[in-house]
Amino acid sequence: MSTERIFNFSAGPSVLPLTVLEQAAAEMTNYRGSGMSVMEMSHRSKVYLNIFEEVKSDFRRIMKIPDTHEILFLHGGATLQFSGVPLNLIGKTGKADYAVTGNFSGLAAKEAKKYGEINIACDTEDKNHTYIPPQSALKLDPQASYFHYCSNNTIYGTEWKYVPETGDVPLVCDMSSNIMSIPVDVSKYGLIYAGVQKNMAPAGAAVVILDKSLAGHEHPLTPKLMSYKINIDGDSMHNTPPCYTIYMLGLVLKWLDTQGGIEGMEKIKAAKAKMLYDMLDESKMFVGCAEKEARSDMNVTFKTDNEELDNKFIKAATAAGFENLKGHRVLGGMRASIYNAMPTEGVEALALFMRDFERNN
Ligand SMILES: *Cc1c(COP(=O)(O)O)cnc(C)c1O
Repeated sequence: MSTERIFNFSAGPSVLPLTVLEQAAAEMTNYRGSGMSVMEMSHRSKVYLNIFEEVKSDFRRIMKIPDTHEILFLHGGATLQFSGVPLNLIGKTGKADYAVTGNFSGLAAKEAKKYGEINIACDTEDKNHTYIPPQSALKLDPQASYFHYCSNNTIYGTEWKYVPETGDVPLVCDMSSNIMSIPVDVSKYGLIYAGVQKNMAPAGAAVVILDKSLAGHEHPLTPKLMSYKINIDGDSMHNTPPCYTIYMLGLVLKWLDTQGGIEGMEKIKAAKAKMLYDMLDESKMFVGCAEKEARSDMNVTFKTDNEELDNKFIKAATAAGFENLKGHRVLGGMRASIYNAMPTEGVEALALFMRDFERNN
C-alpha cells in the first residue's frame, strides 16, 4: 500500500482536511494532557463537556444560528431523521408536503407516508432527477404541517439554487451533502438536518437544527431517543452521544475558520466546481448529467457516450490516484464529490487528467 494520500472523491464518508486528521492523530492517545484519548472519556466528564460546549458554540457562530433554534447531535444519520421529522412534526395537521428531487428525498417521502398524508409537491423523476423545479411548479398544500426538501441531491448531482417560499408552512431541509458550503439564513427554516459524513466529520452522527417552538408535539409512540423535546432537554446527552464524531466535527469547524468560514468556503467551492464544469462544457467526450441551472457544486455527475469508455476512464483515473469516481449504481457514469475538504489541487489535477484522457482516447 502506498504511503501517499490519494485524491478521494468519495460521496460519503468522504475526505477530511489533512490538518484535522493530523491533529486528531497527535491528540489520539493523550488529549491535551488529560492522559486519555477522547474515545476513552466519559461524556459527562469536565474535559469532554468542554469539548462539546465549544463544538456547539462554534457551530452556532459559524452557521449564524439564532437563539430561537437549538442544535442537536444525534445518532442514526440522516436516515433516522426521515422518520424523526414526521414523528415529531406531522401531528399538527396530519399532512406534509415533500419535494422529491432525488434518491434521498424520495426515501424521506416514502418513510413519512407511514405517519400521515403526504402530498408530493413535485417529483423530478420524469426527467431522471436531472433538474430542480422552479417555485411556480411546486404544488403546495397550505394545510401541510411542514414542507420537506433536500437541498443537494448527492446521487444525481443537482442543487436547489433558491429557498422555497411556503408561507406559514415550516421549511424542513435535508442538507446532508451541502451544509456549510453556502451561507444559509437559518431563521427561514423550521428544521435543518444533515448526516455529518459528507461535509463535516467522520460518520456517526446527524446534526439537527430546529426551531424550539416545533418541539414537544411528537406522536405518543415516538421512541424517546427520537423526540426532539427529550433531546433538547438532555442537550443531546439523553444517552451517550457519538462523542468522538462530535470532537472531530469540532476540529473541522476550527479548520473552516481558517478557510474564511462559510463565506470563504462558498468562494472556494464555487471555483472548484467551475473548474470541472468548464471542462465538461468544453469536452466532446464527457457530458454533465444534470441540467446546467441545477448543477451541484458538491457532486459533479458526468458520463461519456458509452459504458465501456466510462469504465476505462474510471480505471485509468484510479491508477492515477483519483479514487471513488464511479457514479452511483442508479445513475451510472462518474461522480466527483468535491466537498469542502477536497483540496483545490485535487480538482485541478482531475480536470487536467480528464483533458489528457480525452486527448488520448
Ligand atoms: C448520504 C445522505 C443521506 C443518508 O445519510 P445517512 O447518514 O447514511 O443516513 C441522506 N440524505 C442525503 C442528502 C445524503 O447525501
